Amino acid sequence: MHVKNILSAKGSNVVSIEPTATLETAVRTLTENKIGALLVLGPDRRVIGILSERDIVRVLAQHGASVLAQPLSQVMTRKVVTCSPSETIGVIMERMTAGKFRHVPVIEQDQIVGIVSIGDVVKYRLQEMEHESAALRDYIQTA
Ligand code: AMP
Repeated sequence: MHVKNILSAKGSNVVSIEPTATLETAVRTLTENKIGALLVLGPDRRVIGILSERDIVRVLAQHGASVLAQPLSQVMTRKVVTCSPSETIGVIMERMTAGKFRHVPVIEQDQIVGIVSIGDVVKYRLQEMEHESAALRDYIQTA
């Protein structure tokens, strides 16, 4: 199974933010959209970073609440690990585990076409396991 299967179910909507926005704006955007990470896009809509709730918690612990007025570009992760729609979900799970992150943007021809979170992967794997066990039950009953 592939990343495109997840995207066809959840859609390609990605909540993004500009690097000049403040951390306070980022916190509000995360909360309003009930998500855990924001893609940071440059003027050409290319991915230049990712900002997760973990990044915000870390700088709050280090610098206190005054950091919320700072531009998020100072806090975001710049080296973003991405995937393509044709990669398998197993490979994405390995990438998330090895990198210790829970969000992977999906890129096709240099453009962002979606984002896959650990929640999407778990939901997909659960559905897959339910189908597998239903198929096994059918097989046992008809064998
Ligand atoms: P997360 O577990 O996704 O909330 O993120 C944990 C840390 O990894 C934070 O510092 C994020 O900025 C960073 N991060 C999240 N997703 C990615 C990604 N796809 N590539 C690189 N770093 C990431």
